[in-house]
Amino acid sequence: MHELSIARNVVEIATEALRDAGGGTVSVVRVRVGVLAGVAPEALTFCYEIAIRGTPLEGSQLLVEVAPVVLHCPTCDRDAQPPDICHLECPVCGTATADVRGGRELEVESIEVI
Ligand SMILES: [Zn+2]
Repeated sequence: MHELSIARNVVEIATEALRDAGGGTVSVVRVRVGVLAGVAPEALTFCYEIAIRGTPLEGSQLLVEVAPVVLHCPTCDRDAQPPDICHLECPVCGTATADVRGGRELEVESIEVI
């Protein structure tokens, strides 16, 4: 399962961050997932529960923040969010563009240690 390997990766990163912070108990792990990253937030949360078993992160909660698609319009020379992810075009002038600047991210934003 795709999400399970991502969840394990998140656990790895967060465990390392916890070690760097000098230990403690992690309460919340925040991740940012772009809508184009191909990850279902609910599936990731579910897999996270499995992935943290027996790790220092056991008992912590995963919060998934979904990041929108951001395109760069060459006509307007600005970044904008398309009307929907199936129509990658500028919402202002309608220019179709494949210059995607956001929406593919998959990163651990922060961990909260108590
Ligand atoms: Zn435009």
